[in-house]
Order: sequence, then C-alpha cells, then structure tokens
Amino acid sequence: MWDKKWVIGNWKMNGQLQNNNALVHKLRSLPKMDNVCIGISPPTVYLSQVHNAVKIVLENKIHTCAQDVSRFNGSGAYTGEVSAEMMKDVGVDIVLIGHSERSLYFNEKNDVQRHKIENVLNVGLTPLLCVGESIKEREDGREKEAVAYQLSVFKGLKTKHFAVAYEPVWAIGTGKVATKEQIADMHDFIYNEILSLCGEDANIRILYGGSVNDKNAAEIFTVPHVDGALVGGASLKYESFTAIIQAAQDA
Ligand code: PEP
Repeated sequence: MWDKKWVIGNWKMNGQLQNNNALVHKLRSLPKMDNVCIGISPPTVYLSQVHNAVKIVLENKIHTCAQDVSRFNGSGAYTGEVSAEMMKDVGVDIVLIGHSERSLYFNEKNDVQRHKIENVLNVGLTPLLCVGESIKEREDGREKEAVAYQLSVFKGLKTKHFAVAYEPVWAIGTGKVATKEQIADMHDFIYNEILSLCGEDANIRILYGGSVNDKNAAEIFTVPHVDGALVGGASLKYESFTAIIQAAQDA
C-alpha cells in the first residue's frame, strides 16, 4: 500500500444500513485497480457493517477506515468513546485523525491528536493525519507555518509508516479546489517537513483533500508528491467515487 495511490472516501456523518449496503456491494465488484489503495470511512457505528461486507476476497482489498478514535486507550470509564483496540477488533485498518471538522466542532488540538496517533500505532493500525490551513492563514501568508505546527505532532514518533492528508480548510466541502501550484507547493513542503521530523526513511503517503471529484481528480493526481485523495462528498456516490479511483489507477 505504500507504493500505491490512496483513495479514501470519508462519508462523514452520512449513511444508513440500507444505502451503505448498496454502495459497498457495488464497490465490491469493481474491476482490479492494482495501483490503488481503496478505503471507506463510514461513521463509527457502521464500521462493522462495512468491514463485514469487504473482508471476503475481492479483486480489490477495500480498507475499512475510521473517522476518529478516542484519545484514551484500551477500555474504561470513558462514556461515548471508542478506543483504537476496539477499532482493531472490528477490522479497521486506517484511522483518520485531526480532520479539520474535529478541530472546528470539538476543539481538538495537537496534544490530543498525538495521543490518538500513538494509540493507533500501538495496536498496529495506520494513522492518517489531516492538516491544512484556514482561509485567514492563507490570506496572511501563514499556510506553511500553520501546517508545520500541525505536523509537529509527528516529532519523535517511533514509526516510519503513516499518512497525511493535506486539506486546506477553505477547500473542504466548498467546491473550491486548491490550484495545482498551491497543491504542489504544499505537498513538497509537507514531504520535506516529514522527512526532517521523522527521518529520510519515513514511509509516507500524502493525500490531497478538498472538493476532489470525478472532474478534477486526474489533474490533481499529476501533481508531484500527491499520493492520492481523501474524498468527502464525491465518495457518497458510486459513479463519482469510482471515477476518482479510476483516475488514480491511470495516474
Ligand atoms: C473531507 O471530508 O475530508 C473532504 C475533503 O470533503 P470534500 O471532498 O467534500 O471537500
């Protein structure tokens, strides 16, 4: 998976048993996409449903991804929380951490994200950290400073295997995509920043996220250091999600 383009669908707080089932069953019969690591990130309550539907041998392995995880590990008196151990138990492979909607609505900061990354790594799952500047930070010319601060959660981490999604906050769910130049500039920056934090031998994937769809994916995948896409809205429809997967396959 570390030499493929990743296409991860973040369903956010969308889906119900019946339509999840229909979408996942269609995805199960996708022709072989051997250059792509495909993932689906449903709401926590549907993780088992998705995992059970994709765990059989398919043309493509479809990874089960969680949208978040508790900062507490194991088990205990933490009402409402779901630990990394529990995620692993139900078949999760990859865990999103620090999505900007988590910071926006739940005030999640670097220290909490660091705990979550460690918990995920400790049980052998793969963290996918989301980073990205706000519109104000970009207008002020502080996009790299903002992203460098978010990436600093990796400092001193023992693992060399993890993924990052660069998601400018102003491009998420807005239909506004960063330009190829902006994406190239930020991905190059993130790549070098990670190597300097974690060592030259870090095995990483850097995805772009922010209004990726079936029309713009192919062009985004031509940008250096773009190793895939984290897809929100367009992952909810079979046609658009599979068109993005196909674009990754052809890239
Ligand atoms: C996301 O949820 O991470 C995302 C990028 O959403 P969208 O594709 O809808 O902008």
